[in-house]
Amino acid sequence: MASVVLEHVTKRYGSVEAVHDVNLNIKDQEFLVFLGPSGCGKTTTLRMVAGLEELSDGDIFIGSENVSQKPPKDRDIAMVFQNYALYPHMTVYENMAFGLKLRKTPKSEIDRRVKEAAEILGLGQLLTRKPKELSGGQRQRVALGRAIVREPKAFLMDEPLSNLDAKLRTQTRVELKNLHRRLGATIIYVTHDQTEAMTMGTRIVVMRDGLVQQVDTPDNIYNKPANQFVATFVGTPAMNLIRGTLETQGDQRFFHVGTQSIALPPAIAHACSDLLNNNLTIGIRPEDIFLHNYPETTAVLKAMIQVIEPMGHENIVYLDLEGQPLTVRTDNSWEAKVGETVNMAINLPRLHAFDPATELSLLYS
Ligand code: ATP
Repeated sequence: MASVVLEHVTKRYGSVEAVHDVNLNIKDQEFLVFLGPSGCGKTTTLRMVAGLEELSDGDIFIGSENVSQKPPKDRDIAMVFQNYALYPHMTVYENMAFGLKLRKTPKSEIDRRVKEAAEILGLGQLLTRKPKELSGGQRQRVALGRAIVREPKAFLMDEPLSNLDAKLRTQTRVELKNLHRRLGATIIYVTHDQTEAMTMGTRIVVMRDGLVQQVDTPDNIYNKPANQFVATFVGTPAMNLIRGTLETQGDQRFFHVGTQSIALPPAIAHACSDLLNNNLTIGIRPEDIFLHNYPETTAVLKAMIQVIEPMGHENIVYLDLEGQPLTVRTDNSWEAKVGETVNMAINLPRLHAFDPATELSLLYS
């Protein structure tokens, strides 16, 4: 396996800049996930690594070699797509062996690699079946097997699970994670699904409109988002953003929302010194607001219940805070009625703060 390095990688289609100046150092054996909404440029970036799209600017290195001008076949990488297109007239074994046969790999070597991949993927009993005799998940595993037998420098995967139903997707996700560990593989993976990114990635690249927003571990993406986009793209329900104003009284800073206010914790109060005016957006995740059993480190605001969604193990509560919508997760022992005004306690150590002008985090950008 090998490292993959992107230096100032840019892709323009006419006047549209689909990917802008991406710089990344993907380490050997990393599972790097490109995450972002449709059209953000993640597939284009992956296709440039594969050699399926020319670069408008920049360079790509696989291992120590600059592959920017090399055709896909000379890059020693394997791709797994959403549409895994197996040859229908070939058996599982033949499908997996096909690429190696074309490369004139000796028969005994092909046999060893196919059987080893089949063993890893649990396909040992299915080698003589045709694709139509397999389930969707099994077919996807054959597609993975076809990539594994190549023993490539890196695997490139573009939404490989999106054709599977929810249950199979979860199962295959776990399998992919195991596979990554077992193979010690470098994997670059594209998805718009935050759960896939959070559960499988060793690092995540969040993209928006062709621009990298943050490159970080799943833990930091969730807990230390660099801007409002990352903060609200990852996490379900999404992080609450509350717009308000700042007031300084002595060495304390207060956040006002409508007629209510809270004293800001020192880290945020300090970070607000850089703001050009008194506008501030605070961010708080739905699990960091308490409607009962408050911990000590909270600040209380009042809000009105709009909707309660029972989810079985918890309730999702939608509230109105001075005309701004808020979502809270609470355990189902808590009882209240729609229309009631309730105390809402914000877990202050978990509070985020953003500059409304730039949308950048005041704590982590
Ligand atoms: P999705 O999840 O929908 O596949 P994506 O994040 O992978 O989205 P890309 O497919 O990389 O996005 O596309 C990025 C941008 O480049 C989009 O605005 C898209 O319309 C544009 N684009 C992609 N391919 C071409 C092309 N061949 N010609 C012109 N524009 C293109």
